[in-house]
Amino acid sequence: MLTRDDMKTDRKPYEIHDDIYRRFPVTNQAFAIVSTRDMGVPSYLGFLDKMHLNLGKRMQQGDIGFSREENARDLGANAMNLILGSYGFPNHQFLQWKSMIVPEHLTKQPVKNSPKELTAMVKNTAKLYGADLAGITVLDEKWIYAKDMEKPFILIDEGDAEEKEDGFYIPKTMNRAIVLAFLMDEEMISESPELDASVATSFGYSRMGITAVSLAEYIRALGYRAIPTMNDTALSIPLAVDAGLGQLGRHGLLITPEYGSNVRLAKVLTDMPLNIDQPVDFGVTEFCENCFICAEACPSVAISSNKQTVETNLLTGNSGVKKWYVEAEKCLTFWQANGASCANCIAVCPFTYGFESMQCFECKGCAERDRGCILQNNTQYKVENGYLKQDRWADRGEVITPRRRGL
Ligand code: SF4
Ligand code: SF4
Repeated sequence: MLTRDDMKTDRKPYEIHDDIYRRFPVTNQAFAIVSTRDMGVPSYLGFLDKMHLNLGKRMQQGDIGFSREENARDLGANAMNLILGSYGFPNHQFLQWKSMIVPEHLTKQPVKNSPKELTAMVKNTAKLYGADLAGITVLDEKWIYAKDMEKPFILIDEGDAEEKEDGFYIPKTMNRAIVLAFLMDEEMISESPELDASVATSFGYSRMGITAVSLAEYIRALGYRAIPTMNDTALSIPLAVDAGLGQLGRHGLLITPEYGSNVRLAKVLTDMPLNIDQPVDFGVTEFCENCFICAEACPSVAISSNKQTVETNLLTGNSGVKKWYVEAEKCLTFWQANGASCANCIAVCPFTYGFESMQCFECKGCAERDRGCILQNNTQYKVENGYLKQDRWADRGEVITPRRRGL
C-alpha cells in the first residue's frame, strides 16, 4: 500500500537548468502583460475591465451560467479576497509584512519550542485556520520574483523584511516557506467556463487571504517574523512542489495526491526554525506525457500537446525549467471574451476527481506501459487510504467530500 509518505522522493521532481534560469518578474505575468496592453499604462488587474464588459453583455443576453444570481454568488465569494489582499500584492492591504494586532513585545520573544514542535504547531494551526494541506520547504531564492510591478525584491543577509522606496527587502534568515493548499468546490469547478467555476475560485482566494493573514499573526505572536503572501512575492507552484504538496502537470498547475488539480495556493515566509518536507513523486509527469485531456479541453489552445521543453519563446514563460509551457496570454484573452475566468483544465484533469474508469476511454497511452496505468495504480492507493470509495473497478468512483476540520 502506497501512502503519502511512500510517495516521498529524495530528488526534486523537476529538472532545472541554472545556467538558463533567471528569477521571473511579475511584469511578465499574463495578467500584467494583457492589462498593460489594454490600459496603455502599467497595470495588473486592468484586464478585468474587458472581462466585466463581456460579463454584462452575457448577463443581459440571458446566457446559461451567467445569471444575476450566479454573478451575485461570485461577488460575495470574492469579498474577503478583495478586502484582504486582492489576489496578492506585497505588503499591501492586510498582507502586511509587520504585525497588525500582536503586541510588539511578543513579536520580540521567540518561544523556546523545538523545531519538531514548532512544525507541528504551525501545520495544525494552518489547518485550523482553513488550509486543506500544509507543507514546508526551504525558501529557494530562485522562486522569489525578481520584481513586482515597480520595485525589485532584494535579498539581504540580515535585517527586517520591509518595503522601502527602492524595493522589497527580504532577509535571507527568513528561509522557510509554509505552503498552504485550499480545496475548491468540485461541483462548481465542473461548471467551467460558466460563472459558478469563478465562484469556487473566488472563494478559494478569500480563504487564502484569511488563512495566510491569520497564520502570519500567529507566527508573530510566537516571536518570529512572517510575510503572508497570496499570488505575490514568490512563485507558488514550485514552492508547493518543493514542500511536497504535489507535482506540476501539463496544464502548468499543481496536482496534489489528495485533491488533484483542484487547489489554490498561498504561502507564509518565516524565520521560524521549521522542519522541511520532502517532495513527492506519484507519477504525474509520466501520466501527463500520455494524457492530453486538458490540452483538448482548453478553449484557447493554450496548453501544449508537445513534449516538455527547457526553453520557451513565450514572454509569459521563463526558460530554464523542463516542463510544458502554457501560453498564458491566450488563456487570459479567453477569460476576457468569456466574461468569466476559466477552469476547464482543472475540471477535466483525472486527478481532480481521483480515477474513474470511464476516463480511460479518453487516454491513449496505457497500451504502451509495461506496469499499467499510473493513475489507476495511484487511485488504487487512494481507495485503500480512504480518499475514494469504490468497491469495484467497473463502477464509477464516488468521491468522498473531503472533510475540513478548520473554520
Ligand atoms: S484556464 Fe481554460 S483557457 Fe486557461 S489554460 Fe486552462 S483550460 Fe485553457
Ligand atoms: S488532464 Fe491529463 S495531461 Fe492534463 S494535467 Fe491532468 S493528467 Fe496531466
